[in-house]
Amino acid sequence: MQKTIILNAHVISPGVDMEGASVVVENGRITKVTRAKVAAKASANVTVVDVKGQYVMPGFIDVHTHGALTCDFCDADPKAIFEIAKAKLQEGVTTFLPTTLTVSHEELVVAAKNAKNYVNEGSPYAKVPAIHLEGPFINVKCCGAQNPRFVRKPSVKELKDIAKVFPVKLISYAPETEGGAKFARDCIKAGIVPSCGHTGAKMKDLMPAYRNGLRHMTHFCNQMTPLHHREIGMVGAGFLIEDLNTEVICDKIHLCPDMLRLVFTRRNLAHVQIITDSLRCSHCRDGYEFSMGGLGVKLENGEARLVEGGNLAGSTLWMGNGLKNVHEVTGIPLKDLVRTTSWNQAVELGWGDELGKIEKGYRADLVVINPKSWKPSAVFVDGEQRI
Ligand SMILES: [Zn+2]
Repeated sequence: MQKTIILNAHVISPGVDMEGASVVVENGRITKVTRAKVAAKASANVTVVDVKGQYVMPGFIDVHTHGALTCDFCDADPKAIFEIAKAKLQEGVTTFLPTTLTVSHEELVVAAKNAKNYVNEGSPYAKVPAIHLEGPFINVKCCGAQNPRFVRKPSVKELKDIAKVFPVKLISYAPETEGGAKFARDCIKAGIVPSCGHTGAKMKDLMPAYRNGLRHMTHFCNQMTPLHHREIGMVGAGFLIEDLNTEVICDKIHLCPDMLRLVFTRRNLAHVQIITDSLRCSHCRDGYEFSMGGLGVKLENGEARLVEGGNLAGSTLWMGNGLKNVHEVTGIPLKDLVRTTSWNQAVELGWGDELGKIEKGYRADLVVINPKSWKPSAVFVDGEQRI
């Protein structure tokens, strides 16, 4: 039996802030979290790791990320997902949903095949249980960085054809499109979470899909109808309807610090999920240039902006930095905020009894974070130290 003992841990888990703790891991699962003294003697079957008071948190779950290290999940290259998974692991992400762009059906199938190949090769970095389709059934007027050429009407057949290749867990679509309300129900029947995103929906457009089970919002506030006092739009809906699970890009750029405060202090934290929505430029150095839909993008001061006009072109956020940003602008204790980096995602996606907590019986997906630099110094996946 393989055993790992993590000593001097500052455990931060939903509802828990425990300093001087020991975490015992056996065969990939947490078997004990305690402040009591634990006999820790290294041997062939026992690994002892002293984390010297650093934070130990549940491994992050990023449900919305496109790329990193110059690679995009929609690149035809099967190596891309390996590079992305390696970068995500460095951020402390132990599980993620690689996210597609609005591209052709053939390209989506290739992306799904590449995810399958990554799993067949033993998922050597962060785990990929399923993928997130961002589009192609969105509102052509709310494309953002998505290519309008490939936008099409909701099709359950197309969705199922992709899911046959590799599981799809989340799909971002515009509920106001033709058949949008029924599509929500069809997704749920197929075990896929429908999400309102890249949308020009009004409240009257959202409600039929909500009644059919839609409970998720893609990058809340970005590429959706703003709040107005005569039509509260999707931003208003996110504040009015408590059980909508809202993704939030917490880089202080996509949402300004005051908006982050508004979201995290006014919404029920059980229904907020930090995402990165990172693009291929994340984990790259300033000066990196790439093309997105034929438009030149340059990375400067960690911000990816169009060369022409300077519009924001995507995120370079790391998951832990999103948590740090929200903690700093709101002052909300980490033990309350930490549910927004993995536990909420796990509950919604059906892994709530396995992932997102540092508790006996849970999988030992753990990130050790230096509280000064907020950089992950160690990452465990199923009890195995991979960083
Ligand atoms: Zn995205």
